[in-house]
Parts: sequence; structure tokens; C-alpha cells
Amino acid sequence: PTPMMVVRFEGQDNFVVEALNPSQQAALSSQHVYVGNHLADMFPTSFRAELIENCARCMKEKVPVRYEVGGGCINSERYQSGGCSEIVNFSEQELERRVMERTNELTSINRQLTYLATHDWLTDAYNRRHLLELATTEFKRASRYGLSLGLLMLDIDHFKSLNDEQGHSAGDQALKTVARAMRETIRDCDLLGRYGGDEFIIVFPETDIQGARAIAERLSSKLKDANLSVSVGLTTLERNDQMIDNLINRADRLLLNAKRNGRNRIE
Ligand code: GH3
Ligand code: MG
Repeated sequence: PTPMMVVRFEGQDNFVVEALNPSQQAALSSQHVYVGNHLADMFPTSFRAELIENCARCMKEKVPVRYEVGGGCINSERYQSGGCSEIVNFSEQELERRVMERTNELTSINRQLTYLATHDWLTDAYNRRHLLELATTEFKRASRYGLSLGLLMLDIDHFKSLNDEQGHSAGDQALKTVARAMRETIRDCDLLGRYGGDEFIIVFPETDIQGARAIAERLSSKLKDANLSVSVGLTTLERNDQMIDNLINRADRLLLNAKRNGRNRIE
């Protein structure tokens, strides 16, 4: 980033440093504290007059001033070997507007980054890591308060053949269809995550085995309409469970049974 500093105008050639960005701090010397100093004191005498004159011109004419600096040193450290310095005068209102604009930009970028870090790019379901974080919280809540908790693991049947026969983009499309069908079937408080390639997990807070089975059946018949067959392992929280992995492992074993028992079924 471009080195930049914000300077407060205190009248008559008097400029006080308000803030420096890290690049500017590094370009000067990271050892010294500049905030609160007079701008003129930071520079060697050789540039001082010219710099203050340009700052004053900027304030007087209320226009940006661009000029070249020659280089020099501060406190016997080398400062800049040449280049272009720009002085821009902002009204307080304009400065506030720019800060607000920048803050909004950063907030929006942060939101996007958080989404990317927690979701699967293809299906928009939670990614495995985030699903496990959220599921762990639900597990602790359910264990502590004696609530029921359902967990479903689903795997698409013969998905490899679909990829092989119709191509990977048809496979991708099928993954999206499955995720969409799941989202349409579950409640807002249920957690949907992509666990692996064609494997998904849904966590159902405050849901017993009958409730979870009803959802799994609805989902399975919805997918049949889309010509997709799935196998499902279904379990609920048991007294001896110590962590969410206990439910996941149980659902995984049941899913394997569903596959062994002919696929297209809920175990
Ligand atoms: P089974 O009925 O036993 O589950 O058979 P299967 O063919 O579905 O076997 P498996 O579940 O092991 O296959 C997973 C396949 O999913 C293998 C891999 O090529 C494919 N896959 C994984 N991720 C993606 C993806 O993001 N897009 C596509 N198109 N395919 C994927
Ligand atoms: Mg599969």
C-alpha cells in the first residue's frame, strides 16, 4: 500500500501528524513515534520549507497538491531517496465519508471471507470444519439440558457412474440438487454440511428419531423425483455419547449398512 499520513492543520504553517499507515511508518522509521509531532520537525531542514509551503498552499487553495521530494534523512536515518509525494486536503466531512466508505468496504470483504471460510463453494452447505464446530455446540447444549439431537449422514448412490457417464459438471449439478433438496426439507435451525465428496450431514437440534426419520423419508422421496437415489444413516443422541463424533461414527456405520443392504434406503 502507498505510504500515507493524516495531518491536522492547526493554522499558519502548523501541521501536526494525526496518523500514519504501516507503510508510511515503515518508510520513515518504525522505531520512532511520529503521531502528535509537528510535520516540520520530522524532516531535515533541506525539505522543510518546501514541504510546509506546499501543505499551506494545499490548505489555502483547497486543492490537492502534488510535488516531488528529493530525499534525505531523519534523526540521521535515511528517509526517502526520491519519489513523489501527494498532499490532499479533505474537509472533515469528506474525511468522515471516506473513512465510512472504507469501513463499509472492509466489512463487506470480511463478510465474504467469513462466508468462504465456512461454506462449501459448490453446494453452499457448511464446509466440514464449520459444520463440526456448530454441531459440537449443539451436542454440548443437548447433552447439558437433556434435549434430543438427531444426526443424518447421506451419500449419493453410484455417484461415480453418474460422473463417468454424464461428466463431472452433471455430477456437480447433482450435488447442488441434493443440497437444495436438503435445504428445502429442513428447518432454519438444522445444520447442513458437506462432509466429503458426495456425503452430507444434517444435524437436527431437538429432534427425536421419529422426527428425523420423517425428514429423511421426505428428502429421499424428493430426490427420487429428481432421479437421484441416496442412502442414509440416521441416529440420535444417546446417554453415553461423549462428543459429536460418537453420533457421526454411528451414522457412518448405519450408512454403510444401508449401502450393503442394497442402497436407496434409510437405516
Ligand atoms: P456408492 O453408492 O457406494 O456411494 O458409490 P459411489 O459411486 O457414489 O461411490 P462414492 O460415494 O465413494 O463416490 C464418490 C465420488 O464422488 C467419487 C468422486 O469422483 C466424486 N466426487 C467427489 N467430489 C466431487 C465433486 O465436487 N464434483 C463431482 N462431480 N464429483 C465429485
Ligand atoms: Mg456415493
